[in-house]
Amino acid sequence: MREKLIEFRNVSFRYREEHPWVLKNCSFEIYEDESIAIIGHNGSGKSTIAKLINGLLFPQEGEILIAGKPVTEETIWDIRKDVGMVFQNPDNQFVGTTVQDDVAFGMENRGIPREEMIARIEESLTAVGMQDYHLTEPHRLSGGQKQRVAIAGVLAVSPKVLILDEATAMLDPKGRTEIMNTLNQVQEKNNLSLITITHDLHEVVQSDRVIVMNHGEIWDEATPREIFAKKHALREIGLDVPFVAILADELQEKGLALTKEPLN
Ligand code: ADP
Repeated sequence: MREKLIEFRNVSFRYREEHPWVLKNCSFEIYEDESIAIIGHNGSGKSTIAKLINGLLFPQEGEILIAGKPVTEETIWDIRKDVGMVFQNPDNQFVGTTVQDDVAFGMENRGIPREEMIARIEESLTAVGMQDYHLTEPHRLSGGQKQRVAIAGVLAVSPKVLILDEATAMLDPKGRTEIMNTLNQVQEKNNLSLITITHDLHEVVQSDRVIVMNHGEIWDEATPREIFAKKHALREIGLDVPFVAILADELQEKGLALTKEPLN
């Protein structure tokens, strides 16, 4: 049976006591090897969830468990080894002067031996299709390539979960699709859980499950197909259903749906 990797139990959070709650009584579970999308309008609480998983914030109410361990000030240093994060702006994430230095950075902090580091750099750059760029200076890369290198840096330290917080928001549609395809391949190969945080419904298509946030509450939790079927309700909470999903629906209604089934 698959193990529970992340568990939120009735979690509520506010940034200050005098502020309103930004997460209200949220409960959900994420299993190992799962690909999850967290979607919601701007300000619905998505990034706050990511920061709670990574122990950058702690909830005032409820409990968060990662691999069965409660997240506390004492356990967080250990837990962070299992959690990799990639953020929106790739330029803010570079620390190395070459691509390989950058990928090495997280490993240097963990005292991984040099031989192993070299092997892991090769492996993780290959996983994201950047194996020909070891010595390139990061500023010479496109936005999509920079995000791939950021992902390689996280993969190199072998996390159990990879969280992307609007990581494709600054890319063009082609760059976005490439990153999402790369990530899904990497996730399947590496026994990794993937959490994609986005306000763009296009990005949830390849997920196993979608958690929809609305004003700090979990509005729904279902497969992408089930979520897309609620297109009118989604629009009311500020989310636009992709045109292709609407088209597929309309074709189905008219009996014109494309099917993979043989016709006779
Ligand atoms: P999302 O990622 O869905 O856009 P966030 O989790 O960033 O939402 O924000 C949820 C709510 O918390 C918003 O109302 C936002 O204004 C507020 N918020 C976010 N960060 C802070 C902060 N550092 N201090 C105070 N309020 C914050």
